[in-house]
Amino acid sequence: MAIDFSVEPEFQEKLDWMDAFVAREVEPIDLYFRDQVNPFDRSNETANALIRPLQAQVQDRGLWACHMGPHLGGQGYGQVKLALMNEILGRSLWAQVVFGCQAPDSGNAEIIAHYGNAEQKQLYLRPLLDGEISSSYSMTEPQGGSDPSYFTCRARRDGDEWVISGEKWFTSNFKYATFMIVMVITSPDVPVHRGSSMFLVPTDTPGIEVVANVGVGMNESLGDGDHAYLRFNEVRVPAESLLGDEGSGFKIAQTRLGGGRVHHAMRTVGVAQQALDMMCERVLSRETKGSLVAEKQSIQHWIADSWIQIQQFRLQVLHCAWLIDNEPDYAAVRQHIAGIKVQTPKVYIDVVYRAMHAHGALGVSNQMPLMSMWVSGPVMGIVDGPTEVHKDTIAKQVLKSHRPSDGLFPSQHLPSRIAGARQYVESRIEHEIANL
Ligand SMILES: Cc1cc2nc3c(=O)[nH]c(=O)nc-3n(C[C@H](O)[C@H](O)[C@H](O)COP(=O)(O)OP(=O)(O)OC[C@H]3O[C@@H](n4cnc5c(N)ncnc54)[C@H](O)[C@@H]3O)c2cc1C
Repeated sequence: MAIDFSVEPEFQEKLDWMDAFVAREVEPIDLYFRDQVNPFDRSNETANALIRPLQAQVQDRGLWACHMGPHLGGQGYGQVKLALMNEILGRSLWAQVVFGCQAPDSGNAEIIAHYGNAEQKQLYLRPLLDGEISSSYSMTEPQGGSDPSYFTCRARRDGDEWVISGEKWFTSNFKYATFMIVMVITSPDVPVHRGSSMFLVPTDTPGIEVVANVGVGMNESLGDGDHAYLRFNEVRVPAESLLGDEGSGFKIAQTRLGGGRVHHAMRTVGVAQQALDMMCERVLSRETKGSLVAEKQSIQHWIADSWIQIQQFRLQVLHCAWLIDNEPDYAAVRQHIAGIKVQTPKVYIDVVYRAMHAHGALGVSNQMPLMSMWVSGPVMGIVDGPTEVHKDTIAKQVLKSHRPSDGLFPSQHLPSRIAGARQYVESRIEHEIANL
């Protein structure tokens, strides 16, 4: 099948509109609310008054909540188009909220659309898709994030209720969320991929205790972060809070992450390009030791390295998105999704670091956005599982298409190959001479 990342002219028009709209209408909001209002906080009336008319314009253009598949009421654009959209959205903090596709709300909306009942859709999905409420996703535990087999937070059935006990860690945006989707062990005696389940839990349910609000990097002060350390003290939820089948939590968690990783990766392409643009402008504007900084060979190599890295990564992400659109077997795409997940922090950290360094003191100061951009690089290497875990996935998939050698030496062992070739060629010579 031919690989084709092109989009029809009508969609390109939408992308061009998005590009100009984000620059003109959304980036000023990033700057206006900088550090003051969190995009997930729906209680700020000034922010709501500013954002709602922008969201209406996005809806009119058919660009709202586009991650939802057509069977779930979305546009059905597919991952390549979503990737191209996210490349633009990556430039702005508020853009995802304006376009109704911010994580974790996007993945949570998909889960409820698939597995929620009519009441849950009415109470949570509709207002979530309308941008009226925020949500959280709660899976990681303090003693085990990368390896769910260490999870201990449990739910037991009691009559027509489930009772949840245990701790969760790094539940982002809990303090702004109306509900959360929590992955909990329901059958401790079987492996976690068969023994965990998903629950929809309103954040004001009695028994939920915030042990701490944890912050990231230097952007949030100690004790006032956006990532909640939660304790579930016998939290009771009705039986219908279970989403999907009992024991299907791990499977649901896996499928919700694929598209999200493509979007993270393509937003990183947008950020990296922004950093390269800043770097180029700066080095063309400043002189030192008798020449422009842009004329120093080390800087030129950094510009070239950054450009190559962005181009390669952009193509890798688009290819992965294209595979998701064209390959019905999710297992065949897994290693590609893991590949872009591994590259996301690498490209982010490398390109933003070079841009920051090329700006000198200004680059690491709080008068440029580069330092706070850069902090997001290491975060990308941790969220949704650390790099090493995804490398394991890639290696396992790659190894599946290889076999051990038959003999003592590898199949490319030269003396064995030469002996085999000699035997074959000599028999042919004998044959050809006999036929002369
Ligand atoms: C900003 C941010 C937001 C987050 N938001 C959420 C959220 O909303 N909901 C949620 O549930 N979670 C969230 N998380 C948690 C995140 O998913 C976990 O941090 C992640 O899965 C890693 O788990 P851990 O922190 O327990 O690291 P650990 O499991 O302790 O791993 C630590 C390190 O050990 C090494 N390591 C781990 N496994 C392997 C391996 N197999 N091979 C080799 N080395 C290995 C790696 O170097 C890894 O970085 C968030 C995290 C961050 C930073």
